Amino acid sequence: MKLGSWIKDTLSDFTQLFYPRLCVCCDNVLARGEHLICLDCRTRLAYTHRHEEKGNSFEQRFYGRVKVEMATTFLYFEKGNLTQKLLHGIKYRGFSQLGEALGYQFGTELKGGRWEDIDLLIPVPLHPDKLKVRGYNQAESIARGIGQSLGKPVVTDVLYRKTANTTQTKKTAEERRENVKDIFSAHNLDKVENRHIAIVDDVLTTGATLEACAKAFSGVNVKISMMALASAEK
Ligand SMILES: [Zn+2]
Repeated sequence: MKLGSWIKDTLSDFTQLFYPRLCVCCDNVLARGEHLICLDCRTRLAYTHRHEEKGNSFEQRFYGRVKVEMATTFLYFEKGNLTQKLLHGIKYRGFSQLGEALGYQFGTELKGGRWEDIDLLIPVPLHPDKLKVRGYNQAESIARGIGQSLGKPVVTDVLYRKTANTTQTKKTAEERRENVKDIFSAHNLDKVENRHIAIVDDVLTTGATLEACAKAFSGVNVKISMMALASAEK
């Protein structure tokens, strides 16, 4: 072992003694080599594994609403499951690196399949006021991770939010659609024209938010696909 890495490892063991790094899912101490999520929790996550499935249930959510080439999500979300803890960590506990790490793992699963056709990733924008409070956009963290592993650029100066919407939770599908309708717009369209874009969000439920994002590109010659880290139902 080289002296440099020996010092680094010893220092990290030493730091770990006083500031143990904990798994964001189960709060157990992380072993060396584990990053944010322990191996046990990683194996227990509810992966969808439906990225290559044409006409999967995620794509079906957009049927008759907006033309979507492909759609997929990485994890299933259920009340009280590990995915919920992860989403909470990404959104409210300040773990922007967690979104990126999960995005990276997501991207790794997409390699070598139909998702290679994507030209660029566009995260669902956060309203500037919210961005100020949170310090980062969780959808962008996820997109950055996916982009890194898939080797695709993340573009944040095309899609933007015109107004802030009220929270989507506790709303019916129709209310959600009404709530986000017309809140997104797009500019710098030369960056997306004749290309295949993937719009990235943290959670896919009814698809109302992603649908509203896609509508910002109506009249533009662009292929649109949808990705979310987690989806609410099977
Ligand atoms: Zn764990």
